[in-house]
Amino acid sequence: MSAITADVRTYGHLIGGEEKPVEQLIDRVSPGTGQLVARFADGTVADAQQAIAAARAAFDDGPWRHTTGAERSRILLDLAAAIRERREQLALLDAEEVGKPIHLARGDIDGTIGHFEYAAALAQQLHGDVHTNLGPNYTGLTMREPVGVAGLIVPWNFPALIYSQKVPYALAAGCAVVVKPSEFTSSTAIEMTRLAAEVGVPAGVINVVTGYGMPVGQTLVDSPDVDFVSFTGSTATGQRVATGAAKTTKRVSLELGGKGATIVFEDADLDDAIDGALFAVFFNTGQCCVSGSRLLVQESIADEFLARLTRRAKELHVGPPTDEDARLGALIHEQHAEKVLGLIESAKQEGATLLTGGRRLEGELSDGVFVEPTIIDGVRPDMRVFREEIFGPVLCAIRFRDAEEAIALANDTTYGLANAVWTKNIDTAMRLSHALRSGTVWVNTTIDGGPQLPIGGVKGSGYGREAGQAGLEEFTELKGCLIHTGKRVPYYG
Ligand code: NDP
Repeated sequence: MSAITADVRTYGHLIGGEEKPVEQLIDRVSPGTGQLVARFADGTVADAQQAIAAARAAFDDGPWRHTTGAERSRILLDLAAAIRERREQLALLDAEEVGKPIHLARGDIDGTIGHFEYAAALAQQLHGDVHTNLGPNYTGLTMREPVGVAGLIVPWNFPALIYSQKVPYALAAGCAVVVKPSEFTSSTAIEMTRLAAEVGVPAGVINVVTGYGMPVGQTLVDSPDVDFVSFTGSTATGQRVATGAAKTTKRVSLELGGKGATIVFEDADLDDAIDGALFAVFFNTGQCCVSGSRLLVQESIADEFLARLTRRAKELHVGPPTDEDARLGALIHEQHAEKVLGLIESAKQEGATLLTGGRRLEGELSDGVFVEPTIIDGVRPDMRVFREEIFGPVLCAIRFRDAEEAIALANDTTYGLANAVWTKNIDTAMRLSHALRSGTVWVNTTIDGGPQLPIGGVKGSGYGREAGQAGLEEFTELKGCLIHTGKRVPYYG
């Protein structure tokens, strides 16, 4: 049920430093409350092209790429400070639009600030190399230059945080960008871009065009005036982005889906591992690309582990965005809830056992889109729930005998984003860290890290890296320059 309130926020595109008048609008009803909370401009091909032209002009003619690393760093730090000042307001926007608990949204904003601050530090350090061993008359230089205009396509699960995994690194490198946030969750992208203008990011360096992937995202991918696309979203759409980008020989970075494993050995600290297994799958209501949605637990401890895990899962409080005690929130929309419930149903029909959950939450939460925290035991690798990304609060448990079988099961997926290993044996920890085919491996922790560490995957989870030094370098091209000094020996002499 949606109700229009007088203060529904309404946003137009931000192009070339101006907010464009709004024509067609997309309504956002919070999946956490059923209330209409925001309206975003429904972008067209022409809007996207205008934003690309603004970014092109800002990059080609503007001052940004020629500013020093120190100047970019100072502006990024000012932006981090401005975001910190608006922490509560920004957190509430994401909480309402995603349907996530406010305490998680605050954590997202803290992570966002961290990315801006770290990118500010990197802006000062961006440098090339000098090669002095090429012969007495030669000096070789490698020069890191901004890639140009970057199209940044951001999904709905962590709107502010994923914006911050892209925008500050692009800016630190000297790029101009066009951001396409999800049409469900565009407010924080616009608010942070307004703050960027206030702290001195020149007009046209960050542009935001809201609306649907088709046509806004697709126009970014197709345009010959966009030099690079950074995409976060589903594997299917990521493949379309890569295919489209090939037509203009454009480099892309793809951070796609995942089917991570939480792997628990009998020698783990079981209290920590239970807590970690819960957090791995229920954080952000399972709508997280690095979720540990498969639990691989060693046979010898499996019954006790699952019994304790299930008791803890039943105690988890699910609630609307402003409920300070909620640990899980809503799913992003009705259609997604139907997909999640359909996958749970498929597991039951294929012979798995539901230990807890599995239903839509009604009663006080019936205005929103809530599904119970769910644990399924007796899962086999051929089942859909083992193979497909569920992106919901659903943990699938499977047992293993030894490390060899654990590695085989964990790697038996088309994805390769992140896995977590719980063991106190250093040999086991190191063996799995090497053998797991994923962009990240956590040992005795999960969904953890900081802006220093790269984010990205292998196999169907994509390629390219965000955050850290590697994330900065995605937004650069490497140029080689060889200088000869003194009189040349003639080529044809
Ligand atoms: P999509 O991959 O379809 O969407 C991600 C972003 O890409 C959105 O901003 C979307 O816009 C945009 N997009 C869609 N089509 C195109 C296109 N042709 N060219 C350029 N951009 C495009 O994900 P969904 O939101 O549909 O979610 C589906 C599934 O994807 C989830 O269930 C989950 O499994 C996975 N997912 C993974 C995420 C991750 O963090 N890796 C994040 C979100 C989803 P629009 O919303 O208008 O379609």
